[in-house]
Parts: sequence; structure tokens; C-alpha cells
Amino acid sequence: MKQNFTTNAINLKTYNLSEADKIVLMYSQDRGLIRGVAKGGKKTTSKLGGRMDLLVANKLMLNKGRNLDTICQAEALNTFINLRNDMDKLLYSLYASEIVSNFGVEEDPNSEEIYSLFYSFLNRVSEVKTKTDILLAVLRFQLKMMSISGYSIEFDRCVKCSSELKEGEALYFSVKSGGIICPHCLNQGETVQKMHDKLRLFLKTLTETDFNAQTRYDELATEKVCLICVNLLTDYIKFYSPKKFQTVKMLESV
Ligand SMILES: [Zn+2]
Repeated sequence: MKQNFTTNAINLKTYNLSEADKIVLMYSQDRGLIRGVAKGGKKTTSKLGGRMDLLVANKLMLNKGRNLDTICQAEALNTFINLRNDMDKLLYSLYASEIVSNFGVEEDPNSEEIYSLFYSFLNRVSEVKTKTDILLAVLRFQLKMMSISGYSIEFDRCVKCSSELKEGEALYFSVKSGGIICPHCLNQGETVQKMHDKLRLFLKTLTETDFNAQTRYDELATEKVCLICVNLLTDYIKFYSPKKFQTVKMLESV
């Protein structure tokens, strides 16, 4: 007796399995990372069709196999259509999907939260009109994904001496120490980046508010400031990632 199960999942990567079939790595709402065989998935005539493309959210029915599960039904929930015709949107979405596949695990206890964050992110990026809004979504996604994965950044206190950071102070961000360093704890040997106090408050607000919340920064933030922050967090995430990133190089060329 074969066992079936259903779940919602977003496609992250595909691998060729044979001439006709492919394996799809997905992030699911109930079980974290899962892999499923898409029979005939490499043929354009496959009954699964475009639903097995990257960055599509599906409601799935899978057949439990000894080693690999087989996708028997897929119903598209969202194809995030508008992120497919914009290079920035597509690259940042592929980058986010790599964060999910690097930090997500099988039978992930945080699967509901990660799935919902990733879904909201793709939906937002698909809908927004400006580069600044794309970057704001990326920043929120980066910060929240790190919090969920246990690598949250402390924006209230110095990571070395725990003293409260004062407004207007000259601050430094250290990837290796995992946060912000006050001027008294600055060690000459450590690689740090200067961080204006306003940037700290900006990132703190984005960390503490919901992904879909509107803050005053949604109007104030500029493309330049957002890009500085996204790059800072990209370095941070790369450092703590259990797996190597492939898309970071592509982002540097945008
Ligand atoms: Zn300190």
C-alpha cells in the first residue's frame, strides 16, 4: 500500500534524474526541505508542466517512496509571474531561495514560519515597482531569516561589552562577532565596517516589525542605503551559512 501526503511547497532547485525525469528540491510548509521526483518533468508535454519551474508555489500530492517521493499532483498556488520578467527581481529571488535551501533543513521545526516568510517575500518582490522596494523586501527577508535560523543580529547592545548603544555614537559592524561593536571595544585586528547609528535604527526597525508592516522607512529609505545594508547582510549570511552560495557572485554583477 503506497502512502500519499499533501503539502504546500515552493520550488527551489531542480536536478536531472534521467532523460525524462527531474528531481525538484522544495521548501514545504509542513516538512521543511523536501525532494520529489517529477516524472516526465523535463518534457514540455509533462502533465506537471510549468508548475515544476523554479520559484513556483504549489499545493502538492506526493507518493512516499523508499528513497525518493514522487510528485503525483501539483496545483499552482502562485507563480509570482512578475518576478520573471525583471532581472533584479529574478536574481534577488534566486538569492533568497538559496538562503532557504542553505539554512532550511528536512523536517524543519520552523517550516511554517520560513515558508510563510519566503512566500510573502516572493509575492512582494513580484508586485513592487521600484528597485528600493525590491531591496527593502530583500533586507526584511535577510533579517527575519537569520532570526528564525538562530543568527539574529543584536541592534540594542554592543556584542562585546553588552553596554547599550547610544544614539549618534560611531559604531562598527563585525560579521565575525555577529553584531555591532561600540567605539570602546573596537579592536584594531578585527575586520569591521563603520555603521552609522541611523543605519542601526533602520535595521532594528525592520527586524522588529512584521514582514508586511509599513514603517516610516518605506518612504524614507533610499536605494543607496538599502543596497549598503543588503550587501552588509549578504556578507553576514555568507559567513554563517552551512553551505556555499552560488548566487552571491551574480548579485555582485548587477
Ligand atoms: Zn562595547
